[in-house]
Amino acid sequence: LKFLRGLPKVELHAHLNGSLNTDSIRELAEKVYGAQTADFSTLCEQFVKFEKGAKLDECFEKFGFVHKLTATKQGLEYATELVIRDFAKDHVIYVELRTTPKANEHMSRRAYLQTVLDAIKSARDLYEIRVKLLPSINRGEPIEVAEEIVALAIEFASTEPDIIVGIDFSGNPNQGKFKDFMPALSEAKKHDLKLALHCAEVDNPLEIREMIKFGMSRCGHGTYLTESGYEHLKEENIPIECCLTSNIKSGTVANIGVHHLKQLMEADAPKVLCTDDSGVFDTTLTDEFFLATETFGLTRSQCIALTMEAVEHAFATREEKLLMKMQIYSYTRRQP
Ligand code: 5GP
Repeated sequence: LKFLRGLPKVELHAHLNGSLNTDSIRELAEKVYGAQTADFSTLCEQFVKFEKGAKLDECFEKFGFVHKLTATKQGLEYATELVIRDFAKDHVIYVELRTTPKANEHMSRRAYLQTVLDAIKSARDLYEIRVKLLPSINRGEPIEVAEEIVALAIEFASTEPDIIVGIDFSGNPNQGKFKDFMPALSEAKKHDLKLALHCAEVDNPLEIREMIKFGMSRCGHGTYLTESGYEHLKEENIPIECCLTSNIKSGTVANIGVHHLKQLMEADAPKVLCTDDSGVFDTTLTDEFFLATETFGLTRSQCIALTMEAVEHAFATREEKLLMKMQIYSYTRRQP
């Protein structure tokens, strides 16, 4: 565990509002909104509690709690800093945060994105971690919202190409149709934004085929891919972002022993270990490596290879990747 904790890690699938752990939520509540109440502590406890046999739909309801705290500019700014701090604490040297720009009485979607971007820029000087941002499209929202988010992402990427590197397609997979979002996603692709799509998170064969045909740079979850789907992604060198604890707690994978990570390892197919929502699922990237090690008996060199693989699939520049590889190499050389 000590080796895994110190290992420089790369996080490629982290939803901003899902990545606030309960301690950080308490800190945020205290600093931005004043003293905490007993009710608030109960809410925090319920937030990370999962009944056995929980359903995916129930997980999506959990985000509402954090969304209330990040609905103001100040709350969102501080939450972004806390999430970056917590990843850095876990020796994550590179993180791609994804978040859905939200409009409310305090902020427009533009202001939301600007706030997160500014918080990322400020955090760069505070923590030893490189941070990128993927604005998310929530498939449960109207197409016009997706179009607005893509337009904002293209505009912001033209001034901040080092930070805004792609688009995430997420939200409750039981809502909305992928096909309807294809024009907006094509527009993003045309402007060189990389696409990270939540794909095959639930068993929807038609949509899975549509997504694979459409193309993506990385596949989120990939739980219900067919054999040919897995083969196609392998041929195209498209990695599957594996989020072990998330898949177990949200009930999309029956138990850890049958997680598709095993199959991907055996087939030597591209894969990355990720947390998804380290706050909601009460985990860290170190915990995910540890769980994979305990369950599938990964050796130290397999863990190093996994972190190197994540570097390879990051939406980072060649120079950034080289620097990360050197950092990992120098850590592993220092280990007994
Ligand atoms: P946010 O975009 O508000 O920063 O992060 C939380 C949001 O990310 C959720 O409301 C949901 O739209 C999306 N999200 C978080 N985890 C998952 C997941 O496991 N699957 C999918 N499809 N979407 C998720």
